[in-house]
Amino acid sequence: MPFSDQFQDLGLIGRGSFGCVRKVLRKSDQKVYVRKEISYLSMSMKEIRQLASEFKILRELQHPNIVEYLGHEDIEKDSMLHIYMEYCDGGDLSKLIKKFKEKDEFIPENLIWEIFTQVLLALYKCHNGVDIERVENLFNSTPDVQPSKVDNLYVVIHRDIKPDNIFLLSDGYSIKLGDFGLAKCLRHEDDFAKTCVGTPYYMPPEVIMDKPYDPVCDIWSLGCVMYELCSLRPPFMAKTHLTLQEKIKAGSFNDIPPHYSHRMRMCISACLIVDPSERASANQLLQDVSFKFFRKDWE
Ligand code: ADP
Ligand code: MG
Repeated sequence: MPFSDQFQDLGLIGRGSFGCVRKVLRKSDQKVYVRKEISYLSMSMKEIRQLASEFKILRELQHPNIVEYLGHEDIEKDSMLHIYMEYCDGGDLSKLIKKFKEKDEFIPENLIWEIFTQVLLALYKCHNGVDIERVENLFNSTPDVQPSKVDNLYVVIHRDIKPDNIFLLSDGYSIKLGDFGLAKCLRHEDDFAKTCVGTPYYMPPEVIMDKPYDPVCDIWSLGCVMYELCSLRPPFMAKTHLTLQEKIKAGSFNDIPPHYSHRMRMCISACLIVDPSERASANQLLQDVSFKFFRKDWE
């Protein structure tokens, strides 16, 4: 049965840069999901094929900290792609930041570590790659546009880590990284200009300098998110895109509020290292975090 017959529309949640997001009900079990509706009218054939390949990889990216992807459907008559995924009922981090700002309170450090650890676990999964054999079986042939391969694995880079793409569940505990892979296919060459819906606060310096994407670019953006969770504002801000680019490339930022730990400062600094070859990887950061959990007396 096509997806469209399996789900019932429960109404619009919001509009994103590429189309609408709707809440939908799966008739078989009355579970709520989300449908992202994207028009591919302005995409080239190559981009559409790349998007379809990317979805197959997304399906393999199953992880408790990654928004679950159910599948997609091509609505040819409307030139639309409908993507079905898990519904995250606790809002996203941009809403959490806004809530604390309005209350004039800081986000508790424990919650910030919780968010960091869970996003890192998601990135660890992606950056260490999806099993190539499984993916190639899915394709039945080699995909048109090959994602980067390392040691027989497809490395997946998110490329658009920002508070709006990190979701909370209403259990008050679980964090899910969303919009995986979509950024890569839906973006065109002119990234900085294209991010016009929001200011590109989280863009890594190497991407500004037109260097190829590397997994550690996600770590930079995660560092910006961590900073923003502490300071309730991004580390790099400016009135114009040009000055923002200069600030990001210089990589200097104000200190986070004094009540946060030294360990938090170290962690943010390790993510916000301008030279990508010096920056911490997801694997290294995860080791540091697990060290913290085993040694609660660390501070
Ligand atoms: P953008 O393209 O700007 O990132 P999105 O299309 O991702 O926007 O999202 C639009 C709106 O839908 C946002 O308010 C976002 O929080 C919400 N949203 C997106 N995906 C989900 C999801 N899986 N669960 C709940 N809300 C979601
Ligand atoms: Mg989004």
